[in-house]
Amino acid sequence: MKAFEAVQHYFDRAADELEMADSMRKLLSTPEREIVVQLPVEMDDGRLESLIGYRVQHNRARGPMKGGLRYHHEVDLDEVRSLASLMTWKTAVVNLPYGGAKGGVTVDNRKLSQGERERITRKLVDKIHELIGPDKDIPAPDMGTDHKVMAWFVNQYNKYHGFNPAVVTGKPVEHYGIPGREEATGRGVGLLTIKALGRLGRKVAGATVAIQGFGNVGSHAAKFLGEAECKVVAVSDISGGYYDPAGLDIMDVVRHSRAHVGALAGYANAEKITNEELLELDVNVLIPAALGGVITTENADRIQADFIVEAANAPIRPDADDLLAARGIPILPDILANAGGVTVSYFEWAQNRQFYQWNLDRVRGELDHLLSTAFEQVWELAVQREVTLRTAAFMVGIERVARAAILTGVT
Ligand code: NAD
Repeated sequence: MKAFEAVQHYFDRAADELEMADSMRKLLSTPEREIVVQLPVEMDDGRLESLIGYRVQHNRARGPMKGGLRYHHEVDLDEVRSLASLMTWKTAVVNLPYGGAKGGVTVDNRKLSQGERERITRKLVDKIHELIGPDKDIPAPDMGTDHKVMAWFVNQYNKYHGFNPAVVTGKPVEHYGIPGREEATGRGVGLLTIKALGRLGRKVAGATVAIQGFGNVGSHAAKFLGEAECKVVAVSDISGGYYDPAGLDIMDVVRHSRAHVGALAGYANAEKITNEELLELDVNVLIPAALGGVITTENADRIQADFIVEAANAPIRPDADDLLAARGIPILPDILANAGGVTVSYFEWAQNRQFYQWNLDRVRGELDHLLSTAFEQVWELAVQREVTLRTAAFMVGIERVARAAILTGVT
């Protein structure tokens, strides 16, 4: 199943529950606009490279479209389309006044120099600046892009349209960014894990947790859960897993990772395991926070966690999702679990438009409030309708977007 087909599979299941008419299904699942542009860029060695850039604007019934910008060698139109549609349902579940979009450039980010990355970014803005903007479509960082890319992006956009910091989010904090954006997704994952433990009648203190991926999301989730007295027994990155059944000292792991340019390789205060073994540990909570598609029909039967929190986008394939549901393992879906990042992006956009700097306490307080409200709504609906948390989350999102389309008129 390709990426967009997988999102459609979940969409259809929720639309069935909502008894949605075929005409509305088609309207909501068809992207509003798909942009594909050629990006001729001079590389450091003098070669002219013709890259391809994408921006899929999926739906704008609830407001300007919002979604990240990915620089990765596997980016293609199907992937960008699937992520754009996930953004539509994600912003709606958390009730942000946005639609969904996503963009990307097919390029191996690891091989780019800073100068090449900057030229690609500026060329992309040259090609799409008329179709984006604070009231139209607001990009943000994603895999392979960061706050520096956002600073170049805004600078290039301003050359065409004047001062407009709200055109992208995820900017450097000292350049119209917002405190708390970096930790936001991991904080949200941690917060909702604790809420889910409560709803499942489990104790938070001592609950065992395994986290795949120790980048931005995984490391902040680990810190939050460690501070909440959960026992984080395993973490991993591309170099493999690190396991201590007595609980890892998360700050010690963070210090090691900081000292080794974000990598865990060489961490000696834990047992070395593989990423596959980490996924199959007997823990209370499993948090995939690295790649998509890591839980498949091949390993779903060996998952022993009591419940799964999807910090990464689409870490579970749809057929594995069914197997886990049949085994009674609840899954907190990506469109809710990792919505903390886009929520704080919304605060950054609001801050830019108010010309007023928010402080970290306000950011954290409002983030916790919005995510908790969304969580309770999804959980209640799942119980009431006897559906999975994923179907309930899609139902909340889809219903809000459909309502906006009806209220505003679709033609
Ligand atoms: P990141 O690049 O900061 O970290 C990724 C981590 O995954 C690193 O530790 C890396 O070593 C590890 N990794 C890479 N390949 C791996 C492999 N084959 N096996 C195991 N680990 C591997 O990325 P991030 O921002 O933390 O994002 C992680 C996931 O969360 C992605 O799926 C992303 O789309 C999703 N997400 C991120 C945000 C955000 O705000 N950063 C928001 C929503 C969703």
